[in-house]
Amino acid sequence: MYSIGIDIGGTKIAGALVNDLGEILEQRQVPSPAHSAQQMEDSIVELIQELSQGNPVKAAGVAAAGFIDAAQSTVYYAPNIAWRNEPLKDKLEARINLPIVIENDANAAGWAEYRFGAGKSFTHMTMLTIGTGVGGAIIANGELFTGGFGAGAEIGHLRVQPDGLECGCGQRGCIESYGSGRALLRYLREETGNPALDANEGKKLLEDGDPAAWRALETLGSWLGIACASLSAVLDPQVYVIGGGVAAAGEHLLQPIRESFLTNLSAQGYHPEPEFRIAQLANDAGVVGAADLARKHAEKL
Ligand SMILES: [Zn+2]
Repeated sequence: MYSIGIDIGGTKIAGALVNDLGEILEQRQVPSPAHSAQQMEDSIVELIQELSQGNPVKAAGVAAAGFIDAAQSTVYYAPNIAWRNEPLKDKLEARINLPIVIENDANAAGWAEYRFGAGKSFTHMTMLTIGTGVGGAIIANGELFTGGFGAGAEIGHLRVQPDGLECGCGQRGCIESYGSGRALLRYLREETGNPALDANEGKKLLEDGDPAAWRALETLGSWLGIACASLSAVLDPQVYVIGGGVAAAGEHLLQPIRESFLTNLSAQGYHPEPEFRIAQLANDAGVVGAADLARKHAEKL
């Protein structure tokens, strides 16, 4: 069975034809008309039509950054796209003869890791995506957990520091301000004593294995470990999957997360230890996850 996954980013829309093993059979990419809701809808329709041509497609899933309702149909709010209370599922289904599912992009990526990647052999998985910010996804008992209103699993806004740094969400002390790529750049600047260090220079230090870069990663990892310890008290996942650009640091990131996790874990020594793994699907996770969630939805119809 084939389904289509669409992943909407701030600069491009990626689309893929995916089979039920999560394999990509065909891929397309177009620029993202983020400023216009109508043009965005047109681009999605065109992509789905192109990818379904001549293929027995059963459903399509659309992943976008933002709040999506629990029924996987309405985009309440998308920070980078001109969508406010957009009934996207209904609009797309009126133009395309396929069942459509809408999902938050971090949730779609988490679903892909759970089905086909680093979380494959588990039933309870928590994913943290360390990009510019901190995204997350929760799989509980083999199902995507999105909360009663669809706005759950926003792990980036877990508070780790009362009265801490200001966050884009309007609160203070969220893990996003301490465990994100942006925070890592701040630690790199502190470690190198160079307040003008930019993201590319920081990346180079990490690639070169500069000691300052490892120290910055340790700081980042120790904050993420604090967040994971709190998450384990609530969710008790068998595995944490760490994705996003910063995950390229591999063990150098996982090691300080594990150490800090164990230090901060409640009932230390009596709590089974989850695994910490790096995500496997990288840039394809969004399209593969969106396609697979659509397949799952269509099978239930
Ligand atoms: Zn926040």
